[in-house]
Amino acid sequence: STEGTAKATVPKDRLLGGLLSPDFNEQSCLSRYQSMLHRKASPYIVSSHLTSKLRKYEELHKKCAPNTPLFKKSLQQLKKKQSMDQLECNYVLWSPVAGIGNRMLTLVSAFLYALLTNRVMLIHQTADMVDLFCEPFPGSTWYLPSDFPINIYGYDVHSQNSYGFMVAHNLINSDHDSPPSALPPFMYLHIKYNYREQDLHTRFFCADDQEVISKINWILLKSDNYIVPGLFMVPKFEKELERMFPLKETVFHNLGRYLLHPSNSVWGMVMRYHKSYLAKAKEKIGIQARIFFWAPISIDELYKQIVVCTQIKSILPQLNPEQSENSSMATDEASPRAVLVTSLYGELYDRIRDMYYMHSTTTGEIISVYQPSHDENQQFDQLVHNQKALAEIWLLSFSDVLITTSGSTFGYVSYSLASIKPFFLLSSKDQKFPHPPCRRSITLDPCFHSPPDFICKTSNKTDSVKLARYLRHCEDYGEGIKLF
Ligand code: GDP
Repeated sequence: STEGTAKATVPKDRLLGGLLSPDFNEQSCLSRYQSMLHRKASPYIVSSHLTSKLRKYEELHKKCAPNTPLFKKSLQQLKKKQSMDQLECNYVLWSPVAGIGNRMLTLVSAFLYALLTNRVMLIHQTADMVDLFCEPFPGSTWYLPSDFPINIYGYDVHSQNSYGFMVAHNLINSDHDSPPSALPPFMYLHIKYNYREQDLHTRFFCADDQEVISKINWILLKSDNYIVPGLFMVPKFEKELERMFPLKETVFHNLGRYLLHPSNSVWGMVMRYHKSYLAKAKEKIGIQARIFFWAPISIDELYKQIVVCTQIKSILPQLNPEQSENSSMATDEASPRAVLVTSLYGELYDRIRDMYYMHSTTTGEIISVYQPSHDENQQFDQLVHNQKALAEIWLLSFSDVLITTSGSTFGYVSYSLASIKPFFLLSSKDQKFPHPPCRRSITLDPCFHSPPDFICKTSNKTDSVKLARYLRHCEDYGEGIKLF
């Protein structure tokens, strides 16, 4: 909720209230200290507990990063059969799954998990990510070295050294009193969309299982889910989370602005587009439109949904039925309202642009409509495609108003970074848009699409929102949960 939020005192504070470390060379990552110049100021205060936690993490990361003696020591442990109690540096490894939106959500999730468990997060850099994000930790690297002895690709839902498999087959004891010497030094945690169907992967969110996992020196986490709301289900994390985030819905907003900074190549794209088309607008309206296989809809129908939504929510002016130019009512034409359409489809943009090209508006305002790219299909493993996607997420995050697609992580990331509660385009039914066509989000944090749905102690099924405080079902995705 917006209650209890206070205006940040210095709106263009380049360190975002202590969220960002001052210890970087600005030129190495221009987006880090410049994004806020183009975004509306965040109304949310960053807690001092979070900032001190981040500074401590940066120290730990420096101490344990690749090429340090402590890293080498932990690496040697991998060759042994068992975890070790007294290692100073323990790790959580992140590996990319799905599109850019999903990846940003899981990077933040894994990082928060690292903060809560005193681990260091390292990432598996694939070729489609080499020039996407800046290094987030000062004087250090977050990339796993390429000669890392474990083949990260080799792990998926059926892997026999996943935590779920090992518990299901009694290969390890989920009794949290087991000593580390009874546990392997490396463990795979599978929390992808299909994780609830197999074995016991879901027990990741149970208190006893977290005790066991905490003793394992190296863990690899593969997920396409925003698991942060699930971390609130673990009692021993809850207090710490409350201290870091007095306002629960600001988790991604704050950690995303801390961790995720587009590389200079992507920032160049963002700035060239922004300055060419959007910077002078008096109001920027972002429309992010996706079509999912589980909610099929024609471009024509999606176009109509967007028109009806923007009219009934008074986001964009109506068309003048007279056809004639209504110049007497025109407002400041030097700075029209700008609509940024991001979508894989060029036709959708053509329709929206034509509407305001062929007709004047009842208010006399001029509406300019832009679309940076339209690749038509989602492409996998391509750096340039990913760079465009990230640039568009960033451009959307400079908006004043956002309309995003239900269930789209691409949309979640843009509105959460922007601190804007978006209007969700609600999913189609029988290929038609529903009525109402869109609904405003009540909160700012992204949705966890496939949360656990059972009570740890009894394994009895329950409504996921009952598993922790501060949870509600997502407005755009009924079975998902989100923080409020
Ligand atoms: P989600 O599927 O909507 O949850 O979002 P993801 O970002 O995880 O995956 C969708 C992927 O499709 C993106 O990462 C892009 O590669 C591509 N994509 C989808 N919509 C757009 C868009 O509007 N612009 C661009 N450039 N790419 C898009």
